[in-house]
Amino acid sequence: MPSEIIKLPSDISNKIAAGEVVERPFNVVKELLENSIDAGADKIEIEINDGGLSLIKVSDNGRGILPNDLPNTIERYATSKIKRFEDIYSINSYGFRGEALAAISSVSDFKIHSKRDGYDGFVLIKNFGENFVIKPSPIPNGTIVEVANLFQKIPVRKKFLKNSNSEYREILKFIKCFSSINFNVTLKLIKDGEVVLDLLKDNSMIDRVKKIFNESSLFELKNTYGSLSIEGVLSTPNNQKFRKDYLIISVNKRIVKDFGIMQSIINAYHRLMPENRYPFAFINLNITGDDLDVNVHPTKMAVKFFNSNDIFSFVYDSIKAELNSLTLSSSHVTQS
Ligand code: ADP
Ligand code: MG
Repeated sequence: MPSEIIKLPSDISNKIAAGEVVERPFNVVKELLENSIDAGADKIEIEINDGGLSLIKVSDNGRGILPNDLPNTIERYATSKIKRFEDIYSINSYGFRGEALAAISSVSDFKIHSKRDGYDGFVLIKNFGENFVIKPSPIPNGTIVEVANLFQKIPVRKKFLKNSNSEYREILKFIKCFSSINFNVTLKLIKDGEVVLDLLKDNSMIDRVKKIFNESSLFELKNTYGSLSIEGVLSTPNNQKFRKDYLIISVNKRIVKDFGIMQSIINAYHRLMPENRYPFAFINLNITGDDLDVNVHPTKMAVKFFNSNDIFSFVYDSIKAELNSLTLSSSHVTQS
């Protein structure tokens, strides 16, 4: 009997699936930086040419990859970060789906160099549409990933990219946020050959945020309630220049979009800000395993809370208490 259903070769299925993980250059930067942190790196260098359209290169001093594992890095659903499904609920790493490098390497000219301490360094090269090759590469311990000509040979995808300036702006915003959360990492950003960020390790999130966002009227937020904790950096209510684009939220150090939490922050500043003005607020919430599902979307930019109302109240109450003590101490100062 005839049959007509075939299982697609992995190069084709990877290209199809790539759309869910990488839509634009900024997604590539996000996945590569997350991999560097997951590898324990504390020094990362990022090079961006033409808004990431011609080159995105991330070098780290992390633990590197075993030579035999290099081909596995671009295999879909291949990961060193989980062994069982349940692991994703207690995970400390950014990655776990094993999809990013498979996707990225199927839509670009891709190279991954890596060297694990005690082993020789190698590079895996996979040009768009070709099979990969592996060669020796004498690099220091760590990993270098080069993504060139992203989507350039996929005309439809290329059409959806913006110009290199807007792609770069998105990348820069992501790097600023990511490096604020990972403030204890030395980080350098080179744009078209020019160093634009050169950050040594900072001791706290507020130190890094002040440097990166060039803001001074900020205060620190810290609170814990049972299994929930919050840390962050907020602007004082007298700082009224911000629009809504500086409400930055991360959950367990993952930057996410969450309108419920955004609204809780805005509500805490209610009556302290004029119409259409918002605080600068960068918060990180830590939530333990089974109150949170991080596996909602391939880009992991959304998460699901099981007790969202408790979390919203916790954010609101934490900020409100801090704002009240600020007003108290400033009225105390004026009276004396
Ligand atoms: P995931 O991060 O979900 O595991 P990726 O496709 O991003 O999937 O990466 C696949 C694997 O490649 C990782 O599990 C890790 O073992 C290895 N890897 C990727 N990037 C790095 C890096 N910068 N340093 C060390 N290992 C890496
Ligand atoms: Mg990853």
